[in-house]
Amino acid sequence: MAQPANELLTAQIITSFGRRFIVRTYAGKTYEATTRKKRVDFACGDEVHISHINQQQAVIEDYLPRHSLLYRQDATRSKLIAANVTLMLIVLAAVPTPSELLLQRALLAAEAAGILPLIVLNKADLPQNKPWLEKLTFYQSLGYQVINISALYNVAELRSYLQGERAILLGQSGMGKSTLTNSLLGNEQARVGDISAALDSGRHTTTHAQLYDLDAHSQLIDSPGLQAFGLHHLSVSNLLHYFPDMRQYIGECRFHNCTHRQEPGCALKQAAADGKLKPERLQFLQSITDELIR
Ligand code: GDP
Ligand code: ZN
Repeated sequence: MAQPANELLTAQIITSFGRRFIVRTYAGKTYEATTRKKRVDFACGDEVHISHINQQQAVIEDYLPRHSLLYRQDATRSKLIAANVTLMLIVLAAVPTPSELLLQRALLAAEAAGILPLIVLNKADLPQNKPWLEKLTFYQSLGYQVINISALYNVAELRSYLQGERAILLGQSGMGKSTLTNSLLGNEQARVGDISAALDSGRHTTTHAQLYDLDAHSQLIDSPGLQAFGLHHLSVSNLLHYFPDMRQYIGECRFHNCTHRQEPGCALKQAAADGKLKPERLQFLQSITDELIR
């Protein structure tokens, strides 16, 4: 039955191409959707109100309150990555060389957004994997969960973490995100992929994010390879809250706006000198602090 022209439907954004979207209503109908006034403040995973134009097209009018919002911001631009995510899968593999810095940045972003991170070391079948597994024990000591799996051979352990979650896959290209998605989804992926391909045909737009159903209660969002993770939206005064190994020093530096470099009475530098804080972590804190006050 046709909808009255002015009735709003509730839908979920399942594909984001930046300014164009695919949305799906709770009845399971998909529409190609645009926004009004060139709004770009919508993300994959958002629940939205849409007005229906015809059988294929809709307009996104607004988003419903969000449980979480993940975005990256550099000095000039902000990009939404996904909304309403409950779990961040940070995918690493020994080959090609992963960036530990990117891991630390992703963990910060997860902490700031209130999203539980899960570090996924992929390619467990490769012998080069061992030193990375050892390196990651440090992050386990901070309270982060780490799993060691092989997207090619067995994703059962990962699947158990995804129950009831809306998870996002993040990682540099080559770490195995597409392979993981394929292993977790099988045929479902092909089906959703077809919709995107049809919408995208000949326009050469990049998909920013794609949402898949794992089962009735669990969803997976795939995002393109991530090389940089702009954190300009973080506030320097809250920064220490996002570092599990430094939280205990909040308020202990002599100067409230300490940059943890030259200042006398810096609790973090003291902790590093006393061997209570890893020097690499202090360096990371210093570099992020510099980035945010610049
Ligand atoms: P993405 O760029 O993160 O999506 O990475 P891909 O899924 O395209 O994987 C990059 C390469 O790593 C491909 O050649 C995959 O076959 C390979 N790969 C992915 N998972 C595994 C794994 O568990 N073990 C091994 N040995 N190779 C893998
Ligand atoms: Zn300090």
